[in-house]
Amino acid sequence: MGRGAIGRCPNCGTGKLFTGYLTVGDRCSDCDESFKEYKTADMPALLTMLLVGVLLVPILWAGFAVFRPEPLVLFSYIIVLTVILTLVLLRLVKGAHVGYFWAIEERDRGA
Ligand SMILES: [Zn+2]
Repeated sequence: MGRGAIGRCPNCGTGKLFTGYLTVGDRCSDCDESFKEYKTADMPALLTMLLVGVLLVPILWAGFAVFRPEPLVLFSYIIVLTVILTLVLLRLVKGAHVGYFWAIEERDRGA
C-alpha cells in the first residue's frame, strides 16, 4: 500500500504505477507486473471525501477559534482547502488502494 501511495509499482517499488494524474498504467515499466486487473472503481473517491471531511473539521475549527475570520473569508478558505486536500489525497488513496488490491490479489474477474 505504501508503494502504491507514492505512485510506485506495488511489486518492485521502482516502476511507475500511474501514467497520468489518476490513470493507472497497464504494466510496470520495470518488472512487467500487470495492473489492469486491479479496478478500484469509486472507493478511492469515497475514502478521499471521508478523509477530507475528517481533516477539514478540526482545521476549520482551530482556524475559526484562533483567527475569527469573516464568513466570506472562512468560506474562501474552506473551498481552497477542500480542493487542495482532495487533489493531494485522491492520488495517494488511489495508489494505496491499487497496492492493497495487489497485496490481497483482488483482481477484476469481469463479474
Ligand atoms: Zn514493478
